[in-house]
Amino acid sequence: MVTNFRNSLITCLFSVSALGFAFLTGVSVYKLVSPAKVNQVQQEVAAYQAPHAKSAVQFYTYLEQKPWAPVVQKYMNEQKQKEQELFDEVFAMLGINQATLNEYKKAYYSYYLEGQDRQRCDVSKRAVKKMCNVQQDDIKNFLGDCSVNIDAMNIVSTKEMGIACATQSNLYIDEAGIVNKNNELTEQVKADLLHEVQHMLHDDSFNIWILRVIFKEWAQDNQEKTKLFTALMSRFDKFRENRADILAGLVDPIYARVSADYYKNDVEVNGQDISDTHPNNSERFAYLDQLHKEMLGATKVA
Ligand SMILES: [Zn+2]
Repeated sequence: MVTNFRNSLITCLFSVSALGFAFLTGVSVYKLVSPAKVNQVQQEVAAYQAPHAKSAVQFYTYLEQKPWAPVVQKYMNEQKQKEQELFDEVFAMLGINQATLNEYKKAYYSYYLEGQDRQRCDVSKRAVKKMCNVQQDDIKNFLGDCSVNIDAMNIVSTKEMGIACATQSNLYIDEAGIVNKNNELTEQVKADLLHEVQHMLHDDSFNIWILRVIFKEWAQDNQEKTKLFTALMSRFDKFRENRADILAGLVDPIYARVSADYYKNDVEVNGQDISDTHPNNSERFAYLDQLHKEMLGATKVA
């Protein structure tokens, strides 16, 4: 069951990316929105702010209070720098800056949310069912204990096996795949939940979507530009996955450990390594194993 769940996680951001692409390449976003609608949308979202930005800060503060705080600091600084470098590269390619990006995000936020709801992260409406309250409470309590503010996050159950996906406000979960035989969340599932909420805290789904909107304007179906942009976005996707792995692992060495072991097993037993959308499993094992060692080392010194 855990394997099913994890396999689905491997496709989680891929699904979000695919959603963005299908959405944009299938039908032009501009043709879909009437001028009146755009005006309405712009008024509604004049003050766009990443909905989970404050929650992200709250989560960082929680991590900084851990006995392995120096490790937290080191990784957070690295992640921040890497993200800025990637954004700078995208900005240079598209000829925009942070302010332009924010304008686009303001203008398209409601539209994105509508699409998110309609597409349901590739989860069909008929597959969405009411989640068992007890389990939902378990998830909320666990995330709350880790200082993740879940007030603005909807936890949505699906009955389709192998689906777990985070959009900006919805966390889709395959209920049957996440509990052990005692109906408890396993350490592995907890690590996976922590990974998923990182995508929400960091606006990952919306950022991917909006950059592709801007890209469509810039590329005008030019194949060479498309190739360059796709390669850069692939690096960006892998960075987001790495960040989600690392920040989830920093909550407790047990989560770094179970995830590292999972990827090791996937390579050694299942022969699965290469991924287009995520770092390869051998890389994920290596950096999570390293993280685990550093967290234990820092804890002993403390
Ligand atoms: Zn992910």
